[in-house]
Amino acid sequence: MQRLSSTLDRIDRKGYGAYRDLSGPHAFGSFTLFVDRVQRDPFAPPSLVRIRTREKAFDPTLFKNPVRRVAFEDFLTRSVERAIRRVVRGSRGSGGSGRVEIQRTSQVVLPRASMVVAPDYVEARMAVGLPARGRSVDARAAKAVLLEELPEVLRRGLVPAPQGSVDREKARRHVETVEDANQLRKRLPEIGLVAFVADGAVLPRESGASDRPLADSAVPFVSPEEYRVEVDLPNRNTISGMGIPEGVTLVAGGGFHGKSTLLSALSWGVYDHEPGDGRELVVAREDAVKIRAEDGRSVSGVDISAMIGRLPGGRTTEDFSTPNASGSTSQAANIAEALEAGTSLLLVDEDTSATNFMIRDERMRELVRSEPISPFIDLVRPLHRALDVSTIVVVGGVGDYLDVADRVILLEDYRPSDATPRAREVTTEFPPRAPLTSREAHPPRERTIDPSSVDLRRGKHQEARGRGVQAIELGRERVDLSYLEQLAEAGQAEVVARIIGEWVAAGEVRGMRDLLTEALTPVSENGLDSLGSFRGHPGEMSLPRAQELAAAINRIRPLRAGPDT
Ligand code: ADP
Ligand code: MG
Repeated sequence: MQRLSSTLDRIDRKGYGAYRDLSGPHAFGSFTLFVDRVQRDPFAPPSLVRIRTREKAFDPTLFKNPVRRVAFEDFLTRSVERAIRRVVRGSRGSGGSGRVEIQRTSQVVLPRASMVVAPDYVEARMAVGLPARGRSVDARAAKAVLLEELPEVLRRGLVPAPQGSVDREKARRHVETVEDANQLRKRLPEIGLVAFVADGAVLPRESGASDRPLADSAVPFVSPEEYRVEVDLPNRNTISGMGIPEGVTLVAGGGFHGKSTLLSALSWGVYDHEPGDGRELVVAREDAVKIRAEDGRSVSGVDISAMIGRLPGGRTTEDFSTPNASGSTSQAANIAEALEAGTSLLLVDEDTSATNFMIRDERMRELVRSEPISPFIDLVRPLHRALDVSTIVVVGGVGDYLDVADRVILLEDYRPSDATPRAREVTTEFPPRAPLTSREAHPPRERTIDPSSVDLRRGKHQEARGRGVQAIELGRERVDLSYLEQLAEAGQAEVVARIIGEWVAAGEVRGMRDLLTEALTPVSENGLDSLGSFRGHPGEMSLPRAQELAAAINRIRPLRAGPDT
């Protein structure tokens, strides 16, 4: 602390570069501050620091297994986030002077680089805008940030009461909630379910722009008797809720009755949620993929032949590429790619689907003889029968789906009921408009992907980095991720970018499936730090799923990919 203080006195008012003298470790009372990277100037991205406590302050049961450790790290990241908001003044001069940040969290719990809980210490990774007046060092402001604010952030965010402000009971609840959700999800296959929605869950969100729970007017979830199941959890004992079995499930109901809200909650059910989210015990198979139309996307060498036959000009669809997919071909590609990445559950919402991909009625069959698309309605059953892939489809308008559903859940005023018997009556009374065509579902042909098609150069550097939750940048190429509805945080996009960057740098043609497993296994085992580009603070990262990694690779426009030969 003394040394840090005297170094700051010495460099006061010097050029900003003098801050480099702070690099390295500084021992404070009960913790160590590591200054890992010093920014070039006050307007550049902030400096990277780590703070490590030196006490065994927490009960080891909070991190006794990997799931609990991730949950506890998530708890502490949020705790530091809150402490920063309360303690840090933020604006102390030019550019980013005085800013203190920790990686932003979303509603979901993910392995992140922001916090490390080890047996003997806890380490928070943060970013600090070292204060400047104009472009010279402002030692007084720097002391306020580093010697006053940071220790206080630590005391509130990382040190348990009574010395600090961390509530041990809250920490325990956080960890137990996450562990319960995780267990529940892992048990879905053995109890024959693809998803589960607990009684009392709050599904709607605050607004279209916020993922926080709707506060006052939310109607809590009540399961229909026919689908009510009870599950034993490690911490919360027995809970009840709606279990959705394997097969084809239809979610029907009038407009604005909560169909899309339910499906969206299920799509986020691949992740654990923080306590208070409302969807803590809403889970789906961990490999579930939300499928939508995405016209305009590029497609590289994907086998969509199960869904789409010969295209105009005699183009085959076993090795389909286009820089500009239509609504239906993009949705077909999204399904083929999800099957390739591995999935046991597709989530489809009529609202975001291409109509001609979903159904085709008799009149159109008569009028248009050269239709290459076999609609999804013909494929949902074979998908389950042959490939063990279940589907949950939300429909408001297309009654034809009643013919292919194993069960129908009807939403009225946000209340679900079992409408399967009534649906059987309706289908007998009103025969389908067009007979179903019997189809075979087959897995798409495996593909290899060629790294030489991706150019990481940008000026003099090689670059692969995340750009928020919307995109990644590979060299000069921007890859649009805005339609990936299950990408939760910017940190996941960052990891996706770094993995792609490593693959391209290695320069090896790979099978897509092999790349997915081989890239993510070491990261899950050795932690995200193994993707850090230099020693110390590894940057802001959260663990993505294989499904999102695949989706990002598949959206690289210049990508060369095709069936294995
Ligand atoms: P649908 O897809 O059936 O047309 P949505 O799922 O889009 O309906 O929901 C319509 C509106 O109702 C949305 O504003 C949503 O936030 C709200 N909503 C959904 N479920 C609930 C609920 N359980 N309680 C209160 N509001 C809800
Ligand atoms: Mg809807």
